[in-house]
Amino acid sequence: MDQKPQPLPPPHVLIFPLPLQGPVNSMFKLAELLCLSGLHITFLVTEHINARLLSYSNIQSRFSNYPGFQLKTIPDGLPEDHPRSGDKYMELFDSLKSKSKPFFKEMLTSCSPCDETRRPVKFIIADGYLGFTCDVANEIGIPIVYVRTISACCLWIFFCLPKLIEAGELPFVGDDLDTLIKSVPGTESFLRRRDLPGFCRSCDLNDENMRLYSKEGEENSRAHGLILNTFEELEGPILTHIRSVCPNIYTIGPLHAHLKTKLSKQTTSLAASSSSLWKEDRNCMTWLDSQPSKSVIYVSFGSIAKLTKIQLMELWHGLVNSCARFLWVVRPDSVVGKDWESQVPEEVKEGTRVRGYIVGWAPQEEVLAHSAVGGFLTHNGWNSTLESIYEGVPMISWPYFLDQQVNGRFMSEVWKLGLDMKDSCDRNIVEKMVRDLMEVRKEEFSKRAEDMAQWAGTCLSEGGSSYCNLERLVRDIESMTK
Ligand code: UDP
Repeated sequence: MDQKPQPLPPPHVLIFPLPLQGPVNSMFKLAELLCLSGLHITFLVTEHINARLLSYSNIQSRFSNYPGFQLKTIPDGLPEDHPRSGDKYMELFDSLKSKSKPFFKEMLTSCSPCDETRRPVKFIIADGYLGFTCDVANEIGIPIVYVRTISACCLWIFFCLPKLIEAGELPFVGDDLDTLIKSVPGTESFLRRRDLPGFCRSCDLNDENMRLYSKEGEENSRAHGLILNTFEELEGPILTHIRSVCPNIYTIGPLHAHLKTKLSKQTTSLAASSSSLWKEDRNCMTWLDSQPSKSVIYVSFGSIAKLTKIQLMELWHGLVNSCARFLWVVRPDSVVGKDWESQVPEEVKEGTRVRGYIVGWAPQEEVLAHSAVGGFLTHNGWNSTLESIYEGVPMISWPYFLDQQVNGRFMSEVWKLGLDMKDSCDRNIVEKMVRDLMEVRKEEFSKRAEDMAQWAGTCLSEGGSSYCNLERLVRDIESMTK
């Protein structure tokens, strides 16, 4: 008797995030979204990230719900005690490029052939900073799509860096940072020198960041497409410019909320997803429960930024003098010098007993969703920015590096969601900005933030832009892996 041929298992996609908290967070959500769409996923992380995920996240229990999911590791080539943050993060990029590429290739080429449960990897989704993944994909003939976990507005500035250099706008000398930039189409009326990514202030065109990021346009057009963690209603005009260089763009963000929305339609309930690389202090949620509605300003500068002791003190005095309640994340390794416990002045710790609360790491998405939170003093890392936008929380921007300077300007000038404190960290300015956001201009910013949050929600519902783009991505993966 003729046996019916067995249907093939679903397409198998390898996802490789940059080994930093922000990219791991958003690509972890993407992995889960694609699992929910029925694809098989190998999530590749460095050994360093894996050890931290195993300690602090619920990645294993979370993904035990998806039979097609597996986690694999690769070395990043750095010694275990390397900080992988602050001004050392570039060493991580260099090491990945030189040391991890052979492991990556070996992993893909030694994959077992198709069996009845799993096909070999036939599609790669990698962070666009991991350019070597595209070299390997081309060598072995597998389609690749890049994910950019930064904002589209910053990506567009990276694309325009060669033009800025050609037009003589870069490098610039002197300290006039308020001069407007003319060679970034779409931003001529508001983008100042001070809003360019921080490394543009270097007069050296051979600066390692400058060399890396001015190749972005070229690099990104090598992939079959770009997945962006943003939504059309937020960055539409800039996306039109990016499409002139890379036509195939999948805007499927905000990813964290996209996943939440999809899961809310499932019949089985899952525990909240966490890809945290630090131990979350959940006691702050109980503290928030006892605070009045929209009275607390949440303060956090993400996973990489470092503060000097002087900056820490100026922020502290500014917050205390503003009379606002605050929840402040002082990450264990974020104060320049040794461990933060010995660095933080006694008076800051005192504050934890008055109307402030300090934690080493918070469950940020939940914090921003809490009704007691009315503002966010942020470095405007892209994940934090999107998380705040989705929850309708107005912001004060105090950027540290890269896309954060750009995001802060768009957040305040274009989206009108708050204030930009960039380049100052003076207690009087901090106090004034916090008062403006939380009291004086509270209504204006809250209204605008609520409207934007509503647009973010609409793009994720059936027929919305991000919803449709995710469906298109899944269809494209299916057709490219036939
Ligand atoms: N985050 C968190 N707890 C904290 C601080 C940050 O969970 O106490 C998360 C935050 O929700 C975001 C990520 O860490 O998803 C930081 O990413 P972002 O792109 O904002 O900044 P980066 O860390 O890359 O500078």
